[in-house]
Amino acid sequence: MTDGLTRIVHTPPSAHLIDILPPGVVLYGADGAALTQALRYWSRKVIGVDFMGPLSEIPPAEILESVDVVLYAEGEKELIKNFHRLPRRRVLCRIPSGSGLFDSIKLVASLNIVPDLLQNLEEISPEQALDVVRYYLHHRALQVPIEPFHSILSRLVLSQNLDLWEMARYNPDHFVFLDAEGNVGLSYEDLADKRFLGTIHQDPVSWKKSEVYRDLSRFLNELPQTHPECLACPFFFFCRGYMRYKRGECMTLTAVLEELRQASVEIYELRELFADVGQLPAQLEVEEGSRSRTANPQNRDIRDEPV
Ligand code: SF4
Repeated sequence: MTDGLTRIVHTPPSAHLIDILPPGVVLYGADGAALTQALRYWSRKVIGVDFMGPLSEIPPAEILESVDVVLYAEGEKELIKNFHRLPRRRVLCRIPSGSGLFDSIKLVASLNIVPDLLQNLEEISPEQALDVVRYYLHHRALQVPIEPFHSILSRLVLSQNLDLWEMARYNPDHFVFLDAEGNVGLSYEDLADKRFLGTIHQDPVSWKKSEVYRDLSRFLNELPQTHPECLACPFFFFCRGYMRYKRGECMTLTAVLEELRQASVEIYELRELFADVGQLPAQLEVEEGSRSRTANPQNRDIRDEPV
């Protein structure tokens, strides 16, 4: 890649692709054996693994210890059965939506794995999402963050910005996704739909001529005219129309953000109060973002983050 930008590249474990990529590679796929081999051989380049196969075939935990792992588990039973195979840290689990979502979240969190709802937030009703947010905010025994709520709350408390496009890894200047032939997409969904920016062998500057890139640029440029409600939205600084672009609506996101905003105000006020008396309860210590590989570029251990 010759445009001077440093990107995280998501690639299947194919030698002809990994060989030509700079460090900063996320391996993805369902073939545990192929991923294990690639992790052993290209360990210096790999920063993460998105594992999409059955957990019984996940690469050995000791190989995954040094990278961020994202799981796409089928359900609770699969997680419980294979828990002993998983690394003990830096694991995030995408939770499928459905009626059992809340129970799944509680179970995943109790296994000390970080549940993540960002990808399917708008498939969940606002009521269902708020149940999870309130559990995250008020369940004192919770030992791990629930994402994306923890990253959002952390930034709100610290009055720092957070870019939803970046959190979702949807920005071709920073994240790209390859298929086995070297075609480049903006996301796994785009790869599946064969919506390509170009190929990894082309100059990234040429990707800007692709229909996908032009669609994205057009959406962003025309947002004030096509979605004026976004500019008036109190959460524009954070979302910048991402949910409209990806899902067409944002009822759940706005409900979640409002709940987290209120919580951040309460936390802020309590911190001020306790700062006056010189002692801050541990529960009010909300540190900078926890979300590994996105909001947490230093790859700090997500389990070490206070909730
Ligand atoms: S939350 Fe909704 S209205 Fe607000 S910026 Fe995002 S898509 Fe637009």
